Amino acid sequence: MSEIEQLLRPALRGRTPYGAPQLDVDVQLNTNESSYPVPPEVVAAIVAELEEQLGGLNRYPDREFTDLRTALIAYLEDRSGVSLRPEQVWAGNGSNEVLSHLVQAFGGPDRTALGFTPAYSMHPIISETLGTTWVDGQRDSDSFDLTVESAVEQARRVDPHLVFLCSPNNPTGTALPFDVIAAMLEAAPRAVVVVDEAYAEFARPGTPSALSLLAAHPRLVVTRTMSKAFALAGGRLGYLAADPQVVDALRLVRLPYHLSAPTQTIARVSLEHADRLLETVDAIKEQRDRLVAELTAMGLRPVPSDANFVLFGGLADAPATWQALLDRGVLVRDVGIPHHLRVTAGTPEETGHFLAAMTELVTTHA
Ligand code: PMP
Repeated sequence: MSEIEQLLRPALRGRTPYGAPQLDVDVQLNTNESSYPVPPEVVAAIVAELEEQLGGLNRYPDREFTDLRTALIAYLEDRSGVSLRPEQVWAGNGSNEVLSHLVQAFGGPDRTALGFTPAYSMHPIISETLGTTWVDGQRDSDSFDLTVESAVEQARRVDPHLVFLCSPNNPTGTALPFDVIAAMLEAAPRAVVVVDEAYAEFARPGTPSALSLLAAHPRLVVTRTMSKAFALAGGRLGYLAADPQVVDALRLVRLPYHLSAPTQTIARVSLEHADRLLETVDAIKEQRDRLVAELTAMGLRPVPSDANFVLFGGLADAPATWQALLDRGVLVRDVGIPHHLRVTAGTPEETGHFLAAMTELVTTHA
């Protein structure tokens, strides 16, 4: 062990950082970003506001991001019909930061977080790097479903301080049955229950949002992001809705002025153009459904998806297929599930490239 490794906190020794490859290839379908650029009129609106504000960068930004909160509330009310007060909303530099604030406030040494694998890989990484014990709960190993019975049994056994649910789930793509959330709040009576809805805007019709449960459940937290449906991954804006006391607790752990003035402005102006930015969601869903249909026709096993990506199984050697796709200029994600890969729904052209490459690979190896 090197001298520096010895200095490192023992809990961090030997760990590998989050590291989805960032490679310069033509077709990038590996991190569930939007393939569509921010439309020119939205860029122009953002630039106009930034131009007015940049001279004021000598001052710290609004620590409470008041205008951004108002814009987030208006968006959530418009899309989900749920009315929230400003003190029920929190934001950070991506929902990863918001998740990290939650773990800092409600996890930590001597505390336990429960999630249901496979799910978003940062839930355990954030928990463990902040000293929280992570318990890898299980889903059905074939369908990746999480039933009420199984979730309740695992929650009762662990009695966690934090529960991470992910709906639609990354990497499997399926939304969670609604009753699992309510059952979890009951089965884990001392837990803050986090429903990560990063992909909510892509859900199939009839999929409810956990936002509608907030009024009745003060321990429930719903996290969202502008990185996916809003095509704003580079803007770094994630947020959550929760009970005012939960939000208030997050003030204890955030760094002062954590949301820069440009970040607040970019997010707020983008929310004012929500309709325009979300216009691509239907096109992305179409490509997602095309992925499911065409991968099925190839004899592979895609998991039904409510998100902007598809996990598919049936591969003899997933890492070899990942490399073969990369050799053909298509970057997808190996999430470490044997015989499976995950692909983001891109533009029709990008999705077509991926499907053509897969067809070639399936035919060659048949
Ligand atoms: N939650 C889930 C389920 C995700 O898949 C991601 C990004 N891949 C995030 C949260 C974090 O996204 P961001 O920090 O960009 O908001």
